Parts: sequence; C-alpha cells; structure tokens
Amino acid sequence: MQTELAAFIRDTPEGREAEAILRKCVHCGFCSATCPTYQLLGDELDSPRGRIYLIKQALEGAPVTERTRLHLDRCLTCRSCETTCPSGVQYGRLADIGRSVVESRTTRSLWDRCKRAALGYVLPRTLLFGAALRLGQLVRPVLPRALRVKVPPPSGPVGAWPAPRHDRKMLALAGCVQPALAPAINAAAARVLDRLGISLIEAPAAGCCGALRFHLNDQDGGRDDMRALIDAWWPQVERGKIEAIAMTASGCGATVHEYVHVLAQDPDYRHKAARISLLVRDLSEVIAAEAPALEKLLAGDARRTRVAFQSPCSLQHGQQVHGEVERLLAKAGYELSPVADAHLCCGSAGTYSILQPDLSMQLRARKIAALEAGGPQMIATANIGCLVHVQAGTTVPVRHWIELLEEALEE
Ligand code: SF4
Ligand code: SF4
Repeated sequence: MQTELAAFIRDTPEGREAEAILRKCVHCGFCSATCPTYQLLGDELDSPRGRIYLIKQALEGAPVTERTRLHLDRCLTCRSCETTCPSGVQYGRLADIGRSVVESRTTRSLWDRCKRAALGYVLPRTLLFGAALRLGQLVRPVLPRALRVKVPPPSGPVGAWPAPRHDRKMLALAGCVQPALAPAINAAAARVLDRLGISLIEAPAAGCCGALRFHLNDQDGGRDDMRALIDAWWPQVERGKIEAIAMTASGCGATVHEYVHVLAQDPDYRHKAARISLLVRDLSEVIAAEAPALEKLLAGDARRTRVAFQSPCSLQHGQQVHGEVERLLAKAGYELSPVADAHLCCGSAGTYSILQPDLSMQLRARKIAALEAGGPQMIATANIGCLVHVQAGTTVPVRHWIELLEEALEE
C-alpha cells in the first residue's frame, strides 16, 4: 500500500515501523473473513483492512474524528487477522501506533475517561483489585442477576506450592487479577512442573505485565508497568539460573513477547526487554517439551471427562501456539469435543467486555454455543480473562487446562 506519512511522524521510529507495515498490505481483504467485528457488524471500517486504511489516513495527517476512534475501539486486538494475512502484516503493532495517534487527537467524554481511568487504576493493583473483588463476593447473593454474573464466586482451595528443590528453575508471573480470581492456577502449574523436575518460582515484587494500561491506550502507563516487571524479574534472570519464564495466562504471555518491540526505543530497558521476550514461553510449550517425563507420570488408558478447549486469541494468534494444549489433554486421557470457528474471539479481550459490552456479549454467546455444541462436561482455557468471561455465560464448569492435567497426574 503506497503511503505518504505526515511530517509529525514520518521520521520517527513509530513512523518508520508503521510505513513498513502499511507497505506490506496489498488490500486483498482476506483478513476480513476471520475478523470477529466484521462478522458481527458487516462494516468495512470494522474490518482489519478498513482499520488499516483509517490508521493510514491518520498517519498521513487526515482529520481524525470520534468515528475513527470508535472503529479502533471496537477492535478486540485479537490478531486473528494476523494469522490469516498472507502478506505478514503485523496489524497489532500498527494498531498500537495508530491508536496512540488517534487518542492524542480526539477527546473522550468525561464518563469514558473516568471509566478508563478507574479500570487502569484498579485492575493492575493486585491488592486493590482483590479487596474490591472480595467486597463484590460478599454482596454477591443480594445483587441483581445482571450484576451477579459479573462477580465470580470465591475460588476453591489453592493447595501447597512446592519448595524449590530442582536445579532447573523457571519464573512464573502471578499477574494482577489472577491471584485474586484463581490463585490455584499457578500453584497447580508449580506442582506439575515440580513433578517434571522443574521448580517454578514467582518474583515477589512482580505485578501487572502492562497489557491492561497499554490496551486502554495509556501506553506510557503500560510501559511503566512493563519496566517494573522487568525490574522485578531481572535479578533472577541476570544470575542466569532461569531457564524460561513460564506463563499461565496467555494474555500476559503475548504481551511479554512484545516487550522487545514496545521498549525498543528505551535505551535503559531495550536489551533487558529483548532478553525477557526471548525467555517467555506459554506453559503448554514448556510442558510439551517435557513429553517423555510427562508420559511416565500418566496412567496409560484412563478415560476422562469430555472437554472443549477454548483457545484464547492471545495463545493462537498472539503467540502462534496451536494445538499444544489439546495434545496434552488428549495425552492425559481427556476426550476433546470439537469446537467450530475456534479462531474467533470469545469477546473477553482484557477490558473490552466492560468497554464494548454489546459486541462482547454477542461474541461470548457465539463462542459458548460453539463450545457447548459437542456436549462437553468441562470447558478448558489458557487465560484468566477468557475463563472468567466464558464462565459468566455458561453452567458448564470452565477451568484452566493445567488444573485438568494435574488431576490426571494425581489419579
Ligand atoms: S489480509 Fe493482509 S494484505 Fe490482505 S488486506 Fe488484510 S492485512 Fe492487508
Ligand atoms: S485484531 Fe481482531 S478485531 Fe481487530 S481487526 Fe484484527 S481480527 Fe478484527
């Protein structure tokens, strides 16, 4: 795509990156077929190609309006379009650059600004979010149904975290909302890895990966969170004792993979960011690499529950991890039920379910219909946001796949 970027961005690193991405796009429109918002709304400007065109115009200096921002706000950043694109257009990177420009040239309503500020303040603060959640859980029984389904019930027992005893060590991220919503996930990962000869440890000061604020268009705040997380991890990484950073939430994993790009212009952090991005792996990749040890621990022919796997966008599109969890669950004896249109987003997408509730609910209803079509007794996923979002719309239990794998090991 021929571009003529405006002087304000042409000679900046962002301008050069955006121009290189825009030049790759041949305007074929293949990506529209797999874009969830285009499927729902049928408007070209709510398709990847349309949004790329809007961003191109904004970067070329054309007037930017609230309509421009609305079409970008409606994008889930699911990156399904990246998986589909035959030309390798990095839509997610372009969207980050375009959103930053559009945000700086438009003014949101006071209500919108307050909502975004409150989300950006509360969600990344683990203690504050935990306190708010506990309060919500206390009054949950008397809440109207519409509100009650938004507050997940208290999680079950967490279980013990094994003491570090192996030479092989990996870092885990507790994250910002997961410790309050489902603290059992990381503990289950630690126990499974312990049995595979790997000690999983959490850095005490580690907090949010930065995704929440970054995708609320507070990109500077998001970068601050990323730097703080790098600082928390760095002593362990620098000592060279850490083999990998094993992510139990694919949303955080996809974000940490991007540190190398997002902090590329920061002279103090770019090298550290590159190292961190190289170390990060989804938990399913980590465990799949231990297949021989895992097979020894699994009972051969056990037949277990019928499970539908909801593959989060951040896993399949953001990190290009395909089929790994399904193979692990099948190896553990679970029967995988088929899921149609598995490439489509469930509508969770960070704070999207709060900021774009109508589209989010429509996508969730479609996703749940696809997940339930095969009659599963359980739904498994790999990301805390998807887990809570999907669970609020179905009576089928939704759990992280590592908990199912651990149950298979325990039998
Ligand atoms: S599929 Fe790729 S090249 Fe084609 S319009 Fe979409 S982004 Fe552009
Ligand atoms: S990221 Fe997802 S919602 Fe956004 S344009 Fe691409 S496919 Fe559509």
